[in-house]
Amino acid sequence: MGNEMLDKMAGRALRFEILTIFPEFFRGFFEHGVVSRAQKGGLIGIGVHDLRGFTEDRHRTVDDRPFGGGEGMVLKAEPLARALDALGIRPLAERKSPEHETGLRESGLRESVVLLSPQGRPFNQAVARELAGLERVTLVCGRYEGVDERINTLYCDREISIGDYVLSGGELAAAVVLDTVMRLIPGVLGNEASSAFESFGAADDSIDADVDGVPRSQHGAGGLLDYPHYTRPAEFRGVRVPEELMSGDHQAVRRWRRAEQLKKTLRNRPDLLAKASLTEEERRMVGRIEKEGETGR
Ligand code: SAM
Repeated sequence: MGNEMLDKMAGRALRFEILTIFPEFFRGFFEHGVVSRAQKGGLIGIGVHDLRGFTEDRHRTVDDRPFGGGEGMVLKAEPLARALDALGIRPLAERKSPEHETGLRESGLRESVVLLSPQGRPFNQAVARELAGLERVTLVCGRYEGVDERINTLYCDREISIGDYVLSGGELAAAVVLDTVMRLIPGVLGNEASSAFESFGAADDSIDADVDGVPRSQHGAGGLLDYPHYTRPAEFRGVRVPEELMSGDHQAVRRWRRAEQLKKTLRNRPDLLAKASLTEEERRMVGRIEKEGETGR
């Protein structure tokens, strides 16, 4: 299906283009859960493009030996450039030319071309929010030793790493980016608030404002990690659900959840606390938790 058709169908659809030598990799991922529903609902469109389809030799060669010698192979520039050209993606220099300085291309699309790479800037929820506001996100999946750097130089406006470790290919990283960005698109999760109230949810005063000294937020909005969740039965192998959650007292539930968020963030991601939007009372609570060594595990 062409891009125009998709955009017409979806209104505010975000289109993902994935460039890969393993298109089959994505099949199962796209057929299940939220990704599948978002596509069927016309909220996102996904194009997976096999780089071998953009080769011109008999062997459909996508890789070659590195200049300067050394281990492994490198993904060649030509098939990638042809694929990007076929998608109507202009080289970065043209996208950044004065007439496009607003970030709008001739077509009017707001877009980003992303190289997945362990050498990239760290991917996080803030980057995901930026990408979710665009109309097209193109994900370039490397393999072997990586992608000929000229593709990065000529076409990519972002180089993104999903973590400080090395995967065998960019496909897993592309799936991670697509999934994270897609859930932030209004309508995809059904409940507009749900992604704002998760771990790493943006600090938002309208969400987080205090109500009688207790944050209105039930979840991780404000940069904290989410609190623990429980469902029935009330007791499982001798471990009971915390009484506050079964008390029916909404204030007590909120207070317990916020305290648990603080504990968990302190235990697993103390770095996040420095940036989190906390009330004075919460800062004192953090101090108490630290002093009492109450973070558990
Ligand atoms: N030679 C590269 C290095 O040492 O930085 C590693 C290349 S890796 C084996 C092959 C491909 O996997 C990369 O080109 C990239 O597309 C992808 N990849 C590996 N780790 C990644 C990460 N942490 N984040 C995003 N992509 C990654």
